[in-house]
Amino acid sequence: MAHSLDFCRETLSKQTNVKYYTKYQKMPFEEDLFHEFKGHKNLSVDQLPKWTQATKWERASRKSVSRNLCGFLNTGFGGTVYCGVLDDNNVIGLKLTLYQRDHVIKSMHDLMSRYSPPVSKHRYKVRFVPVLPRDTTEEEREELLKADTRGLAGVGERKTEHVLRTPDYCWCDKDAKVQYANGIIVTSYVIEISINPWNHDDPCNKGFGDFLNLHPIHADEDGKIYFRRQARLFQVQ
Ligand SMILES: [Zn+2]
Repeated sequence: MAHSLDFCRETLSKQTNVKYYTKYQKMPFEEDLFHEFKGHKNLSVDQLPKWTQATKWERASRKSVSRNLCGFLNTGFGGTVYCGVLDDNNVIGLKLTLYQRDHVIKSMHDLMSRYSPPVSKHRYKVRFVPVLPRDTTEEEREELLKADTRGLAGVGERKTEHVLRTPDYCWCDKDAKVQYANGIIVTSYVIEISINPWNHDDPCNKGFGDFLNLHPIHADEDGKIYFRRQARLFQVQ
């Protein structure tokens, strides 16, 4: 499996970097070595809903985002998980309040700290890309994007601890329900979680790799090691 660095750069450049998506649009690429689509935002195994443990059908069961991140880390090439995009490339987005977005970021830091060895913050990035309704005018889109950056910031609330490592509702999810019930429009997003390709020249990576400074191999929060080959994962431990 010889991939040159140029090949990686070229393929990674497929990353969208768009300001927003439109609901039900097709992603401009398919799942491959660098891109994984998820219809949910269950980052870790312990956030998966209870029904996923009960199901008998392997294909039908929901899998955590973590396995894919582990695979992207262990190839050394990096990659991006898009939460809010279905397997058939359709963008649906996930409704997220400001507090729920904080929750996702906290969960991500928590998850990466539980890997073995832990993954430092400079190796990944979380980006929330708004999903706007179809059939909107340019002005309406601008208005929606402005509303998104204003948020609903309550400084006090943003300091409240989120409940992590469980499929149960956190206070931020209950707060979101109240907002929907009150008719407040909550923006939908695609959560783009990117693992940067391993760069052995990055001073932040010094000491993390092996003696040749090749990328470290990580086990996920469940003690499992995944690699990615094309659009598929395989587990080696
Ligand atoms: Zn929360």
